[in-house]
Amino acid sequence: MLVEIKTLLIVQDRDSRLRRLREDLRRLPEEAARAKAGVAADEAALQAAKAAATENEMAIHRHQLDIDTRRTTIGRLKTQQFETRKNDEFTALGHEIDRYAAEIARLEDEELALMEKGEELKAKAAAAAAAVAATRTRAQEDLNRMKERHVTLTAQVAEAEAERAALVAAVDPAVLARYERIFEKKAPAVVVLEHGICGGCHMKVTPTTLTQVKAEKGLAYCENCGRLLYAGLE
Ligand SMILES: [Zn+2]
Repeated sequence: MLVEIKTLLIVQDRDSRLRRLREDLRRLPEEAARAKAGVAADEAALQAAKAAATENEMAIHRHQLDIDTRRTTIGRLKTQQFETRKNDEFTALGHEIDRYAAEIARLEDEELALMEKGEELKAKAAAAAAAVAATRTRAQEDLNRMKERHVTLTAQVAEAEAERAALVAAVDPAVLARYERIFEKKAPAVVVLEHGICGGCHMKVTPTTLTQVKAEKGLAYCENCGRLLYAGLE
């Protein structure tokens, strides 16, 4: 195998590695944002659950006030009824007392239903609080892992870049430029030629190219896709 091909195959390996490492690095902020969004969503759900429980508590309180007001009114009406000497007024006051008593009964039924609902809402809020705590812990762990990963990836990128720089120093700049152009658009740029077929585009090369590749006297390129070719073990 030509030395230049051998070197470019290692360069290509480092370039593929660099591409993966940089892609992993690029994804880290998105992953971090997703972890934070998960916490925010759970926090919003907790706030909504708390608000629903508070609103229900206020409704219970309003019902209690309405019941108390009616009880006071009934007390006042009963005093009036006790003091009156007119039969028709006594009866009228009795009807009014009954009406308020019926309202109290309705309000008490509603209050009972609200209290039952309040238990459910409290349980939901407690579950939402537990979910937030769990998500927050998990997100923090994820973020810590991402920070460590960022450090590792950055070091690996630097290492691969240094290796690559040392390797390409020995490659003809024109060949390197051609390799880089192809790798950028359609990696891999250096491919095996087997049974006369280019390993990149899978087309049959011309007999001239085939002979060139097998002779290993100089660099040969696939006339179809432009990739650098080297002879495979046939
Ligand atoms: Zn090709």
